[in-house]
Amino acid sequence: MAKRGRPRARGSHLPAARAHAAGGPALGGATRIAAIFGDPVEHSLSPAMHNAAYAALGIDRAYVAFHVTRPMLAAALRALPALGIIGVNLTVPHKERALALIAKLSVEARMLGAINCVVNRGTGLYGDNTDARGLERDLDGLGVEVRGATAVVVGAGGAAASAVVACLRRGAGEVVIANRTPVRGATLVRRLRARLPRAVANVPLAARGLDALADAALLGRAAIILNATPMGLTQAGFARIDYARTPRGCFFYDLIYAAQPTAFLWPAIALERRAADGAGMLVNQGELAFELFNGVAPPPGVMRGALFERLGRKGRE
Ligand code: NAP
Repeated sequence: MAKRGRPRARGSHLPAARAHAAGGPALGGATRIAAIFGDPVEHSLSPAMHNAAYAALGIDRAYVAFHVTRPMLAAALRALPALGIIGVNLTVPHKERALALIAKLSVEARMLGAINCVVNRGTGLYGDNTDARGLERDLDGLGVEVRGATAVVVGAGGAAASAVVACLRRGAGEVVIANRTPVRGATLVRRLRARLPRAVANVPLAARGLDALADAALLGRAAIILNATPMGLTQAGFARIDYARTPRGCFFYDLIYAAQPTAFLWPAIALERRAADGAGMLVNQGELAFELFNGVAPPPGVMRGALFERLGRKGRE
């Protein structure tokens, strides 16, 4: 297990420490690179988070964003060993397609059916997924209790798979997937059923359409409702949810993160339900990826501080 704090130069696989100038990395001939591949990628806040951790640790590494289109993904991944790139995060549209391109995968990546980070181990590339673990850590930090309770996950893509797995591992007694295309939800249930850890394999897991969000009986027993879709980002708004039917203690969690409460969250906040967006998940999955890439954990709070500064926030809201 990697230790927190400044890495040792001798006996460590990290390069000798060399402080970067405050405010950004001072790139030199020995600087090693980590990156994110996506299309689009310009909006990514991962470079700000990872570079803040490199600066705080004073190690000669930098994190950059590469605009990698779908047809170029295989070539870009093949180039990692040749360029000595230590690892890359994958974002839209690469997370699922990369499964077929990386020979060594973690059990977690296989279960989630998606890769969000690729580590260049020197002996080959290794694909992992830190989304579910990042969400679990965030739910722990928020004090959200789902043990024995009902969780509703909106969506059936890679992020939804992470949300289902996070809820099951935190002891949910029932998980209902509500998706626009119900057959996709059913496919996700089948895939997860085949790969879930034995301890949670028999927990009731069902797939329904978005009409489930207006089902009074389901909403009335929900301890948490998570949005794992991009719904609400456009003028079309969010699917109809009967928020008033949910228990007062029901927690609303949107995997989307934004400067303002999202279309999914604001009606919940107006009814004084507890709510959070995915900024905390983004930080936690990023901290886990940083540790995988660098063999050392980032200093506590540094990546969160960098993200919240970009989002114009002071602390957890
Ligand atoms: P994805 O694989 O493309 O999944 C999209 C899902 O959203 C599908 O279930 C799709 O339904 C549904 N959907 C898309 N547009 C919709 C609409 N207009 N109305 C209803 N449903 C719609 O995407 P993903 O990778 O799972 O990511 C989903 C969201 O999670 C994204 O917004 C992403 O930014 C966020 N995310 C956040 C974090 C974090 O760290 N905070 C990490 C990962 C992802 P159909 O099956 O019917 O098409």
